[in-house]
Amino acid sequence: MASTVKSDVHTYGTYINGEWSRSASGKTFPVLDPSIEEVIAYVDESDSVDVDRAVQAARTAFDSGAWPQTTAQERGRILFRLADKVRQNAAMLAEIEARNGGKPIVEAEGDIRAVATVFEYYGGLATKISGQVNPVPANALSLALREPVGVAGQIIPWNYPLLMAAWKLGPALAAGCTCVLKPAEQTPLSALELANWFKDVGLPDGVVNIVNGFGKTCGEALVAHPLVDKIAFTGSTAVGKSIVKSAADTLKRVTLELGGKSPNIFFAEADWEAAVDGALFGIFINQGEVCSAGSRILVEKKIYSKFVEAMTEKAKRITLGAPLDRKTKMGPLISQEQYDRVTSFLEIGKKEAKVAIGGNRPMQFNKGYYVEPTIFYDVENSARIAREEIFGPVASVISFEDEADAIRIANDTPYGLAAAVWTRDIYKALRVVKAVRAGIIWVNHMQPTCVEAPWGGYKQSGIGRELGPWGVEEYLETKQVYVNLDEQPIGWY
Ligand code: ADP
Ligand code: MG
Repeated sequence: MASTVKSDVHTYGTYINGEWSRSASGKTFPVLDPSIEEVIAYVDESDSVDVDRAVQAARTAFDSGAWPQTTAQERGRILFRLADKVRQNAAMLAEIEARNGGKPIVEAEGDIRAVATVFEYYGGLATKISGQVNPVPANALSLALREPVGVAGQIIPWNYPLLMAAWKLGPALAAGCTCVLKPAEQTPLSALELANWFKDVGLPDGVVNIVNGFGKTCGEALVAHPLVDKIAFTGSTAVGKSIVKSAADTLKRVTLELGGKSPNIFFAEADWEAAVDGALFGIFINQGEVCSAGSRILVEKKIYSKFVEAMTEKAKRITLGAPLDRKTKMGPLISQEQYDRVTSFLEIGKKEAKVAIGGNRPMQFNKGYYVEPTIFYDVENSARIAREEIFGPVASVISFEDEADAIRIANDTPYGLAAAVWTRDIYKALRVVKAVRAGIIWVNHMQPTCVEAPWGGYKQSGIGRELGPWGVEEYLETKQVYVNLDEQPIGWY
């Protein structure tokens, strides 16, 4: 990794109170293209001093700036205009996501369409947030008002950089919150490009601020800051737990979307071709760097050998390549750190189970954090490769005897983000849907995500829900109002 600042590479600043500024320390950090391991930009590194400035700006914007006077209709229109900007600049944003994130350009284009959809959805929802009248017995009018929770600190990961920013900013702005967003240090560029349009779309200064930096120096300062009302985090379960502990000191509201080890369950009567496809798609999309990845593939014993064979044959067709090549189906992992993590699990897997395909670094690349799509089979659910989130293109295939066995294995995990079940038997499908403890369950598919539907985890996969009206709930407080309608004195004394 280059340690000196290259003069031909752009350096992005910090976006606070509607202005680009330099970080207090004067430090920058490099941002890489993981397919060639080269620096494509530098970004100002924020520490607690910059975080404090960003939080103060968000606080002022919330308490006394233009934002509290902005109507729900205006907030909605701002989000619609932001969606338009994203659509108009979709090609540029998709290219950044592919180059910086290592993901295939075709997938990145889908991500950017989803970003625009999320802003539009929450633009529409801004005018549908309303309270209620409570049927109290007294001669009184009782109201429940819905109010924004305040300043939201939003910490996001690198696997879907701009989409995760949209999942956070959309509902927060619809609710009337102000935000300090911290993108992942690996992938800050697309969110910084978005900030270029904040003024154009009519977002008042200080409503969205963006700081960049590392977990220890930037993320922790945001979580600890006493003027932040809520933290919304997407990332690893380990960091999620540390955030809950730190946020306890100031009793911040916390929502978390964390890791998973999601079961993708295949019964013998499932539609064969769709099932084989779905097993691969569930784990290999986005290089397996997906919180809901179908990393445990549970297959009924009757079809187990044939299914592993069919998956293996089809996996040979997965084209690894440069992210910007339209034929590429799998790009590099995000970073050296992630490469080391995934390859260490490949070695663990080789000891714990059998390799159907993959297990190594692909020979054709001499640069880039590429690993082969890997399928381990004859995996015990107690193995580390079945219990720990790998966050890479590594599938663990596990066999099961019958429905009860499938449910038992599916639930035998500390996680509970997602699951999928494949069968033509509607009775069985719905029994499994009810029995598996996870926040998202697909039937005869895996991974489609709709902004209208709730997203979040059971167990150690998180707290709270994103997307849909559930997403906006997490940015609202409820205020009870009692209006006395009786003009007589209380008459107590
Ligand atoms: P990964 O394992 O992929 O690095 P993380 O959970 O560490 O995932 O990172 C997700 C996001 O959380 C990133 O924006 C990262 O900078 C941030 N982060 C990491 N550690 C902390 C921390 N201790 N406090 C707050 N944010 C953190
Ligand atoms: Mg980390």
